[in-house]
Amino acid sequence: MEVLFNDLKKLHQSIPELNEVIQRTVSDFNFIRGKQVTQFEESFKAVLGVNHCVTTGNGTDALFIALRSLGINPGDEVITPAFSWISSSETISLCGAKPVFADVDSQTYTLDPDRIEEKITDRTKAIVAVHLYGQAAHLEILKKICDKHHLFLIEDCAQGHLTLEYGKYAGTVGEIGAFSFYPTKNLGAYGDAGCIVTNSDTLAEKARRFANHGALLKDDHLVEGMNSRMDTLQAAVLLAKLPHLKRWNEMRNLNAQLYDQLLDGIAEIILPLQRPDASHTFHLYVIRAQQRDELKRWLANYGIQTLVHYPQALPDLPAYHYLGHDKGAFPVAGMLAKEVLSLPVHPLLHLDAIQYVADRIRGFYKK
Ligand SMILES: *Cc1c(COP(=O)(O)O)cnc(C)c1O
Repeated sequence: MEVLFNDLKKLHQSIPELNEVIQRTVSDFNFIRGKQVTQFEESFKAVLGVNHCVTTGNGTDALFIALRSLGINPGDEVITPAFSWISSSETISLCGAKPVFADVDSQTYTLDPDRIEEKITDRTKAIVAVHLYGQAAHLEILKKICDKHHLFLIEDCAQGHLTLEYGKYAGTVGEIGAFSFYPTKNLGAYGDAGCIVTNSDTLAEKARRFANHGALLKDDHLVEGMNSRMDTLQAAVLLAKLPHLKRWNEMRNLNAQLYDQLLDGIAEIILPLQRPDASHTFHLYVIRAQQRDELKRWLANYGIQTLVHYPQALPDLPAYHYLGHDKGAFPVAGMLAKEVLSLPVHPLLHLDAIQYVADRIRGFYKK
């Protein structure tokens, strides 16, 4: 059997109107920020129950625009997890500020709230919390830390579309939430796309201006900005897919539950934590195994695609050698980099495939 990590072809084919939507949008010749873009902004903010949604060219830009709108400048420090995708730290550097890595929690893999205060200096301006794999990022505690030290909280929601924590959606607790609609995310476009969400009128206006060359209206360049806007075609695709997002997340959750049952009791692996007070999007279903690389190869031999998110802690990447961290300075991040393995969990995965993957994992440990 062949088990693909993602099956976007099948997912797109499961929405019969999608091709027609694409055809219609293409023949409208309204390339960037057409009416579908506004419609998507309205729909997405309604789903999250937030005041503003400002679309961007991709999720990395969304984070950068969030930081810029909050006034993160050279000389500032921003705390960000030592274990994430590089966007959560490179956008801090793009502002001229310094990414200050903090280790993650060994159970949730999101920022460890107990490791934050030791990183705060008088230059610290903000914390970037990442809802890694779709797990909620301890927002209630992080928000308290931010309030106490007068810091901004930015949420990287690229993997947390509709993650709930204490009844609040990811992206709606901090000053700004940044989303990616990269094709493989739980809500994905047909190319690059992203957005920020916020309840603040001022921040929304700043973000909208900055993302469009510093101008809200044509030729009204109050400041310099950048070009990061959503294509009309991407918005049309997202509008067609948005009504399915909740159901797709539920299907991912059912797949995760099935893995939990079928992999239960294998002493050598650690299954993802399901917090009772938060929901999980299962953007990724990530197990931990000390023999990760061997297990990955074993599964590949049986036609099972798995991925590693991520093989290195961010501070260990060559890009951050200049910060001079000792190897081992972030023990949890370092351990995760060696042990994590993402199993296929996409919404249209067959139960047979999950059974097959689980059987092959059991087989690996019985060999
Ligand atoms: C995907 C991702 C991003 C960046 O999104 P792009 O749209 O690819 O730029 C940022 N942070 C995390 C955690 C991601 O997974």
